[in-house]
Amino acid sequence: MFFHGTSRVNDKGHLEIGGVDTVDLAKEYGTPLYIYDVALIRARARAFKEAFQKHGVKAQVAYASKAFSSIAMVQLAEEEGLSLDVVSGGELYTALQAGFPPERIHFHGNNKSREELMMALESGIGCVVVDNFYELELLEQLSKQRGKTTAILIRVTPGVEAHTHDYILTGQEDSKFGFDLNNGQADEALRKALSSSFFSVLGIHCHIGSQIFETTGFVLAAQKIFQKIADWKETYGFVPAVVNLGGGFGIRYTSEDDPIPVSEYVEKIIEEVKKQVSEQNIPMPEIWIEPGRSLVGDAGTTIYSIGSQKVVPNVRHYVAVDGGMSDNIRPALYEAKYEAVLANRVLDEKNEIVSIAGKCCESGDMLIWDLPLPKANPGDYLAVFCTGAYGYSMANNYNRIPRPAVVFVENGEAQLVVKRETYEDLVRLDLPLKTKVK
Ligand SMILES: *Cc1c(COP(=O)(O)O)cnc(C)c1O
Repeated sequence: MFFHGTSRVNDKGHLEIGGVDTVDLAKEYGTPLYIYDVALIRARARAFKEAFQKHGVKAQVAYASKAFSSIAMVQLAEEEGLSLDVVSGGELYTALQAGFPPERIHFHGNNKSREELMMALESGIGCVVVDNFYELELLEQLSKQRGKTTAILIRVTPGVEAHTHDYILTGQEDSKFGFDLNNGQADEALRKALSSSFFSVLGIHCHIGSQIFETTGFVLAAQKIFQKIADWKETYGFVPAVVNLGGGFGIRYTSEDDPIPVSEYVEKIIEEVKKQVSEQNIPMPEIWIEPGRSLVGDAGTTIYSIGSQKVVPNVRHYVAVDGGMSDNIRPALYEAKYEAVLANRVLDEKNEIVSIAGKCCESGDMLIWDLPLPKANPGDYLAVFCTGAYGYSMANNYNRIPRPAVVFVENGEAQLVVKRETYEDLVRLDLPLKTKVK
């Protein structure tokens, strides 16, 4: 067993996070409950930023808010001096409602609508990361209509793909995102963008994958990008002011994962960029990165109440909790692994091997297979670690289960930052049959 950030066992044998007893939180706010260790989020944000500062490199660390977006979370990112990635009108709206400085917002996505792009332009966001030719045309039209220049990055697919523990180099990358770097699309996109007086092309963007545990992929991607930059300097006289290498830095979900410190990713990236820049004798660009999971993933813990159990003799012992794929779809979606403890009896001997089932009507609604746990009883609390990224943000109302509340904890204090959904919320948008309206 391992603990993240400020998580520890208190003298009652309870799991404590941010100086707050999680059992007290479960009683006060109900379960399931997402708890975020704010100090850990701050520490990660600072580690990324300091790694750039240490080398005197101009940088933006943009929080990929799709990992977990809420008004308080966006405000925390703002407090830590991060920039922000949004990938939809909804994420942009959240950021604006949170008072996030629009000039530090970057807009991503492979199918941004006209309305979303208009909303982004009117709010004065920092840049649009252009993904495809359709968008390039649409964005030019809209910029022309407004009579204003739009700052853009061109997203390329470098033909380097991270498969968590290794990398595949492919000529023609099969991806729905970005302009292919190898087949001339990226060149065509840049040529078009440069020839328009309504674009200011800041630079180039790529994102090679997620939950990456080595630096190799980032170095390979940087090499590919700088090969292209050499071409572009030659052909178009273009030298980027910004090179954005995306996110995807891995975190420890279970004791089997062995992530490297964030500073190491940054250092390897800086090293490669400096090398390329000096070989090509071009000015050092700003380096932008986009961590999502690595800022919030292991800062999040979900507390559930334990309910029913089912023993299939000689086969399996199911222990069911009051949530499941409605608040954490990752195990069902891609067999994501998690570890967990009984929050109210952390130190009790683990004398059973159980599998944690959700309460949704799907056999695939399992959270953890083969988890060592003390003999659990109804009313015990299960704490599942590392649920901070792509947990709440992928939560849904399957089986009309209300989405859980979210609490931030720091320095012995708890603050509710997202309220639990109510049954009234669930039917709020429903309209009755016409014949039933009196
Ligand atoms: C999802 C995404 C990220 C963040 O990925 P993490 O694995 O959460 O760090 C960053 N950039 C882009 C373009 C993304 O799509």
